[in-house]
Amino acid sequence: MVAYPLLWDGMRRLSGRRRSLYWILILVPVGWFVIGIESDFPLVNAQRASVFHLTAVISLAASAVEIWLDRHRELLPARRPLAACLLASALIYAVRLVCIVLDIPSKLDFATAFFLQIFFNFWIALLVVTLVRERREAGLQLAADTDALTGIGNRRWFLGRLPAAPLANSALAILDVDRFKQINDRFGHPVGDHVLASVARAVRDGLREGDVLARYGGEEFVLFLPNVGEQDARAVAERLRHRIEAMSVAIDGVRIGVTASIGVAWSDRKGGAWDAWIQTADSACYAAKASGRNLVKTSVV
Ligand code: GH3
Ligand code: MG
Ligand code: MG
Repeated sequence: MVAYPLLWDGMRRLSGRRRSLYWILILVPVGWFVIGIESDFPLVNAQRASVFHLTAVISLAASAVEIWLDRHRELLPARRPLAACLLASALIYAVRLVCIVLDIPSKLDFATAFFLQIFFNFWIALLVVTLVRERREAGLQLAADTDALTGIGNRRWFLGRLPAAPLANSALAILDVDRFKQINDRFGHPVGDHVLASVARAVRDGLREGDVLARYGGEEFVLFLPNVGEQDARAVAERLRHRIEAMSVAIDGVRIGVTASIGVAWSDRKGGAWDAWIQTADSACYAAKASGRNLVKTSVV
């Protein structure tokens, strides 16, 4: 009666919920203790068994529900089988509870039920370990794919997100912040970092569903725009350029003007190598810089 509420609380924390079930951990054992003293139910086998089974059914079913519901927040493969095993364990206790309360003989006798509980407990233990491992691996994967400063994907993640071969009617763009070194030199590196994070946010919030954005390195960002005509690719890049220009980054009341140059590589043919696209976008970006910065240049691959 102490252990099953504890198991519920443990499953809840394993599932990712911060708040502990202190009131249940205290109330259930204390409640049964008080009722036991008042009613002498612990001296009657069937009643004592019923109370134990009821506690187990509620704790296990609640654990199953919490593990199951939290899958929306954190989808890990081990969640479903773990919830299923907890529920199965709860159901076995529930069947036994009905048999005890109604005093009816059942094929699910005490020995069989005990054997099944051991079986499911083994699986529950195994799945708990699996879930913890899956969570750690997902965390490591996320850290490996994410740029720590801006929170968007990094170059490695971006290259993994590109289709195996370039698609027809798609664009790849390189966005480079203009005279970023001056921002660093004038306001300091932490302010430069803040500017980079603001640029990443402004660009990310200006993209369509399906577009891919990553930090390519330093003050350069890279974008992949699938299913886009040449004019539309240009329009998207212009919109992003405007968004950065309109951004308001202020330090100690001083507004920092931030602009970016964007090079867009576009093609209506599929195939070829991504390296050539990146090269084309890079050259277009370089041309935008040479033409005065805060510009978009498009080039057909
Ligand atoms: P241009 O307009 O030609 O692009 O000039 P620029 O100053 O933006 O380009 P340059 O390549 O000369 O300088 C880029 C600077 O970006 C140099 C580097 O110190 C700085 N930088 C790179 N990564 C980071 C970072 O993570 N944080 C900060 N604060 N600065 C960075
Ligand atoms: Mg650069
Ligand atoms: Mg730059």
